[in-house]
Amino acid sequence: MATATDDLFTRIDYLARQLKAPRIIDTARRLAGQAQDGWTPEEYLAAVLSSEVAAREASGTRMRARAAGFPAAKTLAEFNFDHQPAADRAQLHRLAAGGYLTEAGNVVFLGPPGTGKTHLAIALGMAACSQGIRVGFDTAAGWVTRLQAAHQIGRLDHELKKTHRYGLVIIDEVGYLPFDADAANLFFQLVASRYERSSIILTSNLAFSQWGHVFGDQAVAAAMIDRIVHHAEVITLKGHSYRLRHTTIETLPSARPETTAQ
Ligand code: ADP
Ligand code: MG
Repeated sequence: MATATDDLFTRIDYLARQLKAPRIIDTARRLAGQAQDGWTPEEYLAAVLSSEVAAREASGTRMRARAAGFPAAKTLAEFNFDHQPAADRAQLHRLAAGGYLTEAGNVVFLGPPGTGKTHLAIALGMAACSQGIRVGFDTAAGWVTRLQAAHQIGRLDHELKKTHRYGLVIIDEVGYLPFDADAANLFFQLVASRYERSSIILTSNLAFSQWGHVFGDQAVAAAMIDRIVHHAEVITLKGHSYRLRHTTIETLPSARPETTAQ
């Protein structure tokens, strides 16, 4: 036989669905048990609503992280700062708190391959997702390919506007592939369109002094660096690849060109 409490929960179930918050019924049942230990009605209501808000935030974060296109999930908690003394733990935790995003500031990670540039860029990107920021992640070559495709069908402006929906654009691996003049121009437009408007995180294995080679033009490179660095924190990682941390240096090819970003 249905009790008065069952009837109430049936009603709560109906109301929660009307509010498009069907999870509330489970929380309401679960917390009702604890509420018997002397919660006031206000405490019970606050606990049920807090739980719903937390669940919504978590699912929003998951959705934004999926939409961002990260190549892997990486967090600051997983980053071994002892292995990378050039990364300042306090600075990175401050960046993860997201102040730079409200000021359209940028973050640049430079350093040789395997030193954690992409890891830290993703970690800051995931932190931004959890703060409700829309993030777009791609390699420099990937962003240029998107812009080229749009340009070819006369929709470059539209594509650039689309990137304005991202509070944070992450551009990984600037410098692995050199750009021809058209690609350099499109990349410049991406950077210029965000200048003092919204944030970029960028990673490169090359020092700024070598960007002229990537973009085939010193003037374009200089104009780009100027816009990126104007409101940026530049973090230069050092050392050998974390991927090869269990390999002794002697076993590595001696001619391995180690590009160092200073
Ligand atoms: P980069 O982008 O500088 O070439 P990655 O960020 O891709 O290097 O790092 C290579 C791999 O090593 C990734 O799996 C990354 O998570 C891991 N890694 C690099 N540095 C660290 C570190 N200090 N602590 C933990 N993992 C690290
Ligand atoms: Mg990388």
